[in-house]
Amino acid sequence: MMLDGYGRNINYLRVSVTDRCNLRCRYCMPEEGISHLGHSSILSLEDIARLIKISTDVGVNKIRLTGGEPLVRKNLSQLIDYIAAIPRIDDIAITTNGILFADMATEFKKAGLQRINFSLDSLVDEKFKYITRRGDLQQVRKAIFKALELEMHPIKINVVVINGFNDNEILDFVELAYNYPFHIRFIEFMPIGDLFYWKKERMLSCDVIKSRVEQKYELITARTIKGNGPAKYYSINGGQGTVGFISPMSNHFCGECNRIRMTADGRLRACLYEKTETDLGAALYSGASDEELRQLFINVINRKPARHHMDDGWGVGNQRKMYQIGG
Ligand code: SAM
Ligand code: SF4
Repeated sequence: MMLDGYGRNINYLRVSVTDRCNLRCRYCMPEEGISHLGHSSILSLEDIARLIKISTDVGVNKIRLTGGEPLVRKNLSQLIDYIAAIPRIDDIAITTNGILFADMATEFKKAGLQRINFSLDSLVDEKFKYITRRGDLQQVRKAIFKALELEMHPIKINVVVINGFNDNEILDFVELAYNYPFHIRFIEFMPIGDLFYWKKERMLSCDVIKSRVEQKYELITARTIKGNGPAKYYSINGGQGTVGFISPMSNHFCGECNRIRMTADGRLRACLYEKTETDLGAALYSGASDEELRQLFINVINRKPARHHMDDGWGVGNQRKMYQIGG
């Protein structure tokens, strides 16, 4: 177990396996002119597994694979396999847009994937296509129900609420959690990513979102869901699933943050919004020993800031976009 300078137990590593994506969500990635990492700077699956193993020496026991879109990375199930074999890891999850998931789900489950978070911002075909600039909603639906068929619980569905775009679908999402054992999590829209699309007026606070939900549904406090994280969860009276609220903007949860992040080229970040990164990739290529790499993890955990300063303009100053960090 390793505590950072503010007494938080850092046990969760989010690993981006690629900066590439098969969608182009308007708030995350530009349509064109993207400069991707060169293939030679992206960590191999073996290097990722080695770094994850070293992270367990400093207390990490939860891993989430993300991207870009993690499922466009070749042989991802091989990586899941490697991670599942690391003794101190007891939780392996993925965050995905779901487009490619249905056909890979069985293989992932067999390799040791335990949990899955889908990102889905609209339940209407044309609106989904609009916000992702190209996605087919029906593939995501198929993926979500495949996860249900395989009983990969808890199945979480993350919805970035964008005022004027999908705020009129809030109750439709809740209906999904009413009818099925899904965990719908509404996330406040953040000024990070492709800022061209971000506007203050497009952000709705979780208080407002929750009051819209309560116009129709009775929410019952609070349930603990595996991988609880920053969401506050409620059961829905009479329903099967839950509704969660994640409020990085209106009520930041940095005091309980337990995570660090690694980019696809092996840069370690202590906070989603910080500008400083530690280059594990370079250390690895220069032949660093496990002990030297372990020390780099410790340095990053020690410099983890008390809280993010996105609302003081750090979001604007952040050079990395969401698809380059992993959310
Ligand atoms: N491609 C995968 C996906 O979409 O699930 C994983 C990477 S994506 C960068 C991770 C999460 O970040 C997604 O749920 C996405 O909706 C969220 N995200 C990206 N930009 C955001 C923003 N400006 N505000 C809130 N969430 C954002
Ligand atoms: Fe791709 Fe995920 Fe970003 Fe959408 S949010 S463009 S799916 S990385």
